[in-house]
Amino acid sequence: MMLGYLLARAGVDVTVLEKHGDFLRDFRGDTIHPSTLELMHELGLDAEFLQLPHQELRSVNLSLNARMVPVADFSRLPVHSRFIAFMPQWDFLSFLSDKARQYPNFHLLMQTEMTDLIRQNGRVVGVRATSPAGELTIDADWVVGTDGRHSRVRKQAGLPVQDFQVPIDVLWMRIPKDPAQTDQALGYIDRGQFMVLIDRHDYFQCGYLIPKGQFDAIKQRGLAALQDTIVRMAPFVGEHIRQLDSWDQISLLTVKIDRLRQWYQPGLLCIGDAAHAMSPAGGVGINMAIQDAVAAAHYLAEPLLNGTVSEAVCQRIQRRRLLPVRLIQSAQIFVHRRIINGQNASVPAGFVWALNHIPALRRFIGHMIGMGPRPEHIDRLH
Ligand SMILES: Cc1cc2nc3c(=O)[nH]c(=O)nc-3n(C[C@H](O)[C@H](O)[C@H](O)COP(=O)(O)OP(=O)(O)OC[C@H]3O[C@@H](n4cnc5c(N)ncnc54)[C@H](O)[C@@H]3O)c2cc1C
Repeated sequence: MMLGYLLARAGVDVTVLEKHGDFLRDFRGDTIHPSTLELMHELGLDAEFLQLPHQELRSVNLSLNARMVPVADFSRLPVHSRFIAFMPQWDFLSFLSDKARQYPNFHLLMQTEMTDLIRQNGRVVGVRATSPAGELTIDADWVVGTDGRHSRVRKQAGLPVQDFQVPIDVLWMRIPKDPAQTDQALGYIDRGQFMVLIDRHDYFQCGYLIPKGQFDAIKQRGLAALQDTIVRMAPFVGEHIRQLDSWDQISLLTVKIDRLRQWYQPGLLCIGDAAHAMSPAGGVGINMAIQDAVAAAHYLAEPLLNGTVSEAVCQRIQRRRLLPVRLIQSAQIFVHRRIINGQNASVPAGFVWALNHIPALRRFIGHMIGMGPRPEHIDRLH
């Protein structure tokens, strides 16, 4: 959506396909990072955007065996909004799509699922899709795969993938809460278990980590056992959690970290999770996808306008984004090996001491989460 908006703003005729009829998915996370808020500022949209209901997270705390440990501090970031805005992603996407629709050269096709790449002489020249009106084909000078971590574009393109095994999956559920209850930690580690609680005003979006492939075994132990574990980690969810009375209210989200060796081929580019699936560790995947979109718009807009887009342009995009993506994915792999590996979540004592006593470390982590390495800027677009 961000790439579609930026290209339309630059004058390019652009069509965005979304297979669902709305943006009401809750599997993507809700984080609008300081770097994204800064982009909104550079686009002149931040004041209006921040009118939408959201919560502001200025630092991140972890509850470690019931003791609060400060992890990340955003208070000194070199941006206008020094916080992560927690906002349902459907609000963010609706906002962006409304702005993009102001350009007559922007087209958003909802309930339209890309099914096939169309090729001519070894080059991608468009896509086939299904929609409620039937099958359609869309010709394109260039196709950009932005279809997430189960990307069909990437599969159809046959681009080679490097898979970094991740030992965890996530159980994703809503736990009702009292709206007045605030100021909880974001992450919880207790007796080797790890969980995230995202405050969505009248409920917590809960992400509970399990070892990969263990969902059936957890089900066999029964819902009450899972509820007890969660209450042990966060006693304040109390009796609310008993309202979860069926496994149907709990989704299994598969976590992966992988990366295409080459993000492009003639007529095609992949960005975001389609190019490099991110784990939820650090809650940075959305930020990376948006940064990719800004870089892609920067390099693609002019060549698309004057008909000179080529693989060399895409190579520049991959080169520009590879270092930040590599650094963040390496940090996620490290976190999954050493801290949250599905079997026994724990933080080394020396690291806990450093988090408690070295403010610069918390600011560094805040920078990596809030901005990411080498953040992109709108003013680089013409
Ligand atoms: C459990 C979990 C929690 C996470 N929490 C966070 C978090 O809190 N913060 C964070 O920054 N990151 C989080 N992440 C990572 C984050 O979700 C991704 O990195 C990010 O969403 C990638 O954005 P994207 O636009 O590339 O793909 P997506 O957000 O996955 O978007 C892809 C879009 O393409 C559409 N689509 C798919 N296939 C087709 C098709 N064939 N035709 C048409 N449309 C199609 C989908 O419906 C979807 O709208 C989490 C990941 C997981 C697994």
